[in-house]
Amino acid sequence: MEPLVGVLALQGDFLDHEAALHAVGLRTRQVRAAADLCLLDGLVLPGGESTTMLTLLDVEGLWAPLGDALRSGMPVFATCAGMILLAEQVENPRQRSYGLLPITVVRNGYGRQLHSGTFALTSSVLPNGTTGTFIRAPRITAVGPGVEVLARRGDDAVLVQKGPLRAACFHPELQEGHPVVDRFAAAVRASCSARRSAQERAS
Ligand code: GLN
Repeated sequence: MEPLVGVLALQGDFLDHEAALHAVGLRTRQVRAAADLCLLDGLVLPGGESTTMLTLLDVEGLWAPLGDALRSGMPVFATCAGMILLAEQVENPRQRSYGLLPITVVRNGYGRQLHSGTFALTSSVLPNGTTGTFIRAPRITAVGPGVEVLARRGDDAVLVQKGPLRAACFHPELQEGHPVVDRFAAAVRASCSARRSAQERAS
């Protein structure tokens, strides 16, 4: 059975994430309540509007259970508004976040809708010519210790990873061929098989 990835589905482009995850062979479950977080192999926080997500997380009683899931060690992939939720510090304006990824992000840091678009990325881990679609994207202005920068737009870090947490300023779920989502899928599969072998050793 293929691994099961939960996709936070309160608001935003969760359907695009589900389509991208299906395209790389994973199963998905929409997460709208705490019970939806059970027995997941990975978790995706989609793009959308981070302030609306914060409000809905409170309304649905999901803030604390989602925090536990994000801290559990399973692979997490967060894009755009999702990255804002994970960041240690959020500016423009300051707002609450889980603070699990030591980066500073400025909301709408590349300008508003007018400045959205597709831009060339440089990366040593993605295929040459990979581009990123930025939509009212947050800008990473500081990267803390232990954070790996996997791709840049100009000098800016736009795809980062720390342990099981990965985050992108842009929208890899909209990319042709899904190279970034594919890397996440590989991490989910690796973490599943590591867990299975640990369970077998323990039994
Ligand atoms: N501008 C949005 C925010 O600040 C993020 C945009 C996106 O997720 N595409 O929450």
